Amino acid sequence: MSLEAALLSVGWQPITEADYTALWFFVDYEWGSPPSATSLHHTVPAPYTTAFLSSNQRLVATDGGSPDLLKPLLQHVQPHVRLGERVVCVAQQPKRRGSAAGVAAAAADALVVTTVTDTGAVRTYTAETVIVTASLGVLASGSIRFMPPLPEDKARALAIHQWMAQYEVVIAEFPYAFWAAHFPPGRTCMLYAGTPRMLLHDLSGYYGRPILEFHLAGDTAVRVSKQPLEQTKEKLMGILRAMYGEQDTPDAIRVHCTQWNSNPLTQGAFSVRPLGMTDAEHAALMRPCCNGRLHFAGDGLHPVHSGYMHAAYLSGLATADAVAAKWAMAAPIDAALVTTEPLRTSEGQLMVGTSA
Ligand SMILES: Cc1cc2nc3c(=O)[nH]c(=O)nc-3n(C[C@H](O)[C@H](O)[C@H](O)COP(=O)(O)OP(=O)(O)OC[C@H]3O[C@@H](n4cnc5c(N)ncnc54)[C@H](O)[C@@H]3O)c2cc1C
Repeated sequence: MSLEAALLSVGWQPITEADYTALWFFVDYEWGSPPSATSLHHTVPAPYTTAFLSSNQRLVATDGGSPDLLKPLLQHVQPHVRLGERVVCVAQQPKRRGSAAGVAAAAADALVVTTVTDTGAVRTYTAETVIVTASLGVLASGSIRFMPPLPEDKARALAIHQWMAQYEVVIAEFPYAFWAAHFPPGRTCMLYAGTPRMLLHDLSGYYGRPILEFHLAGDTAVRVSKQPLEQTKEKLMGILRAMYGEQDTPDAIRVHCTQWNSNPLTQGAFSVRPLGMTDAEHAALMRPCCNGRLHFAGDGLHPVHSGYMHAAYLSGLATADAVAAKWAMAAPIDAALVTTEPLRTSEGQLMVGTSA
């Protein structure tokens, strides 16, 4: 059931601008989609997060933001992390016997991961097990090619739902904080009830520079992520000048838009539990494939806390546990790795493995 239908069923519907703005804040702002497209499931009561965390664990403020939280986790794996490489293909290498020139024998069907670096170089890695943690939006976009293709139920679930929140943040720096006198004392956020509805966040106190953030959701977020930044700046300046006066509102010095919706590495802001999704579809998404060698993890794959950092963390732990359990039970694996050069088809597509 959608949140809109749920509210109607208890006799509430928005009438005033204040109602619509409050609804936008509790639904669109939180879940990146309007009440008509947001599932009641796992959104009300929204504080799954607060239920999960103890009372002294809810809010963490660090100068460096989320990366500060991740540093302790990263220190053990950092040396093995390759940045600036995009995975374009995960292919199952058929079981081989003997060896051919340039190809070592592998005891079992390994997986070959092909990446493209920022400079366009193509690299391959061979592994006994692969865990894919790209967002469900990335998986649904088809930008990572799987050979063989993903199982039908997984591919279908990815194709028929909107898995990612549509959300963008525009950050603008100004010569001075012309808005400061208009924010309620002690408050850093303000809701704009006009078109488009948005949340304004004064970041001056955090960064010591006059910076305003504009939080946008739904169709507006998608449009802003795709249109030229200058167009977005013009629209926002028009709104600010209508609010604070033509004379008193200087032009922004710098403007940045997150562009999560158009970024090929995110394809949306964060995971949501889509309206109408079934538990069977979710189970299909979580299920490993390629004889248990190809696994998936990420915030969208946690059964309860979808869309939160702890969902990503817990999903990763569960998947790593499953892989470790499989390794512990498996017979010793022949460590010989297959080195393959990726092939190009006549269409220029990357093709890895099977005929190497
Ligand atoms: C505005 C906003 C506010 C949020 N607020 C909160 C909050 O208050 N609390 C909270 O708990 N959560 C919050 N979240 C959600 C949280 O950020 C996500 O749930 C979490 O980051 C998901 O982690 P993940 O590892 O599953 O996915 P991601 O963080 O998306 O990581 C996936 C990684 O895979 C990489 N990738 C994708 N495709 C490829 C490819 N082909 N090759 C190589 N790499 C690839 C991406 O670059 C990315 O680094 C917020 C998110 C947003 C956008």
